[in-house]
Amino acid sequence: MADIIQLLPDHVANQIAAGEVVQRPASVVKELLENAIDAGADVIKLIVKDAGKTLIQVIDDGKGMSVTDARLSFERHATSKIRNADDLFKLNTKGFRGEALASIAAIAHVELKTKQDTDDVGTCIVIEGSEVTSQDVVVTPKGTSISVKNLFFNIPARRNFLKSNTVELRHIIDEFHRVALAHPSISFSLYNNGSETFNLPVSNYRQRIVNIFGNKTNEKLVPVEEDTEVLKISGFVGKPEFAKKTRGEQYFFVNNRFIKSAYLNHAILSAFEGLLKNGTHPSYFLNLEVNPQTIDINIHPTKTEIKFDDEHTLYAILRSAVKHSLGQFNIAPVLDFERDATLDTPYNLKGSRTEAPKIEVDSNFNPFQESKPPREQQNSSFKKAPSEHWESLYVGLESKSNGSASNFSELTFESEESTSSLFETKVTPDKANATYQFHNKYIISAIKSGMLVIDQSRAHQRILYEDFLKDITVKEGVSQQLLFPLQLHFSSQELEIVKQLQGDLEHTGFVFSNVTEESIEIKGVPVMVPESEISIILEQLISDVQNEVPDANFSATDLLAKSMAKSLAIKTGQSLQKDEQEHIVNKLFACKEPNVSPTNRVTFITVGVDELDKKFI
Ligand code: ADP
Ligand code: MG
Repeated sequence: MADIIQLLPDHVANQIAAGEVVQRPASVVKELLENAIDAGADVIKLIVKDAGKTLIQVIDDGKGMSVTDARLSFERHATSKIRNADDLFKLNTKGFRGEALASIAAIAHVELKTKQDTDDVGTCIVIEGSEVTSQDVVVTPKGTSISVKNLFFNIPARRNFLKSNTVELRHIIDEFHRVALAHPSISFSLYNNGSETFNLPVSNYRQRIVNIFGNKTNEKLVPVEEDTEVLKISGFVGKPEFAKKTRGEQYFFVNNRFIKSAYLNHAILSAFEGLLKNGTHPSYFLNLEVNPQTIDINIHPTKTEIKFDDEHTLYAILRSAVKHSLGQFNIAPVLDFERDATLDTPYNLKGSRTEAPKIEVDSNFNPFQESKPPREQQNSSFKKAPSEHWESLYVGLESKSNGSASNFSELTFESEESTSSLFETKVTPDKANATYQFHNKYIISAIKSGMLVIDQSRAHQRILYEDFLKDITVKEGVSQQLLFPLQLHFSSQELEIVKQLQGDLEHTGFVFSNVTEESIEIKGVPVMVPESEISIILEQLISDVQNEVPDANFSATDLLAKSMAKSLAIKTGQSLQKDEQEHIVNKLFACKEPNVSPTNRVTFITVGVDELDKKFI
């Protein structure tokens, strides 16, 4: 039989390689920025149009290329950065594969202009789908400018697969941040659709972080410095009270290269142990310097993962350095004795008056009672929010009893059932429809044909979601005035999002008084929103908008209602009082779509008596 194996033509091989190297416009941004840094640039300008779908251009003032190099740079495996395999372990450049330009040129229209300092004129090469269409002499300043137009023009499937401009731009900005954070001594700017989004002058590391994430960041940063034989650490961690609900601001750089490492992330989390509210993530901006011979960055084509020789040691050093910083800056207690008592106070209770300890007797405790009466929330730092929250849930509703939700528990007594039920009948008149909370997660309620098992968190999300939607569309959300207006700081992109949603937020009951370039002042909030939750809600909302795929059927209103419902809904693990349970059941079935949560998850299931009967055969 005839031989059938052939070498692929270069342009096909390049297209295949491009599939790995270039996933989206942001990948091109990363490669071009890194090339500019490797070329020793001091000033780097990034220009994008339509989130990079129409144009990505990077202009640098680096060393430029000779005519021959300019032409060679588009060949696959053409690189000036390594010569042999050993060089892989001495890397001090970002690039080394020599694939990026070849890949990009295979799937876009590329124009390169470049000139070295010593030359009078430079070179301009136009290359489209791996084919050089022109090469000329041009007058151009020292350095290199590469523009990439019509990305994926010859791979329609890829092009259609791209997300909305908001999402793609988000990815580009993420890459830009990573590169800019790793190189504060280089000046970066970013122009998006003709307007300047970032202008980052040469600065120190702290200033660079502040220039990117906004002035509010400054007060949040705690320096971390450590210098050992195997590892040098410098950078900052965010104070624990500013930890975010989302993992946005977490950056590791190893030898100036952004990397992701779940293992090292864990080291940081363990240093923060006991200092973070549940479900929050600390910010960090940490540069690790290690001997290049002890790492292998060759294991991932997009190069955000690396392998360390001795991960355990790095873990230990990192953890202790962060711990030390948190201690040194009085954020965490370092010594177990002689510590300042205020340090132990959960942050949101700080400054509040301390009361003499009281001996608390659980007056509801009845060892023979089947359903345990509600207990106080376990964690004192969270104690306030749910009860405030619950009280506000009842605003506007007719009170079922004389006692409010919070003193309900005081109405029941210890001792026999008979006595307590006397009081119970007073508070929960409808004994037949009794509810029961199971594992602080489900509410069980009897119905004629059997029982309902309701997921408390999803059900409450559904209730709040429909309420918010109504408020937004009917435009009559009730607002409560804050005693002192609350000033919140955001980065410029975050503020853009808040501004876009301002109208809708106002319909739910938010009152904004002063919206500036980097902060907003809030004078009023929807009645059901406790003050302590405001910043969390807005942060969640911003991150939802950033992560949502706002395509054709995207509705800001819907997202806002979903996001607020998610933030405010009672959570799994929260113990509920009887009337709270009933309230959920009743409100859920008054909803238009009680069966599913706003994110389309089942809210309840039914278990029929017949099903139960079958089990007892
Ligand atoms: P790599 O960066 O892995 O070497 P690339 O395909 O990104 O591979 O680039 C190929 C070569 O082109 C680089 O090794 C470098 O010599 C040259 N080059 C690319 N971009 C620039 C630039 N902005 N300035 C100077 N030289 C560049
Ligand atoms: Mg490169």
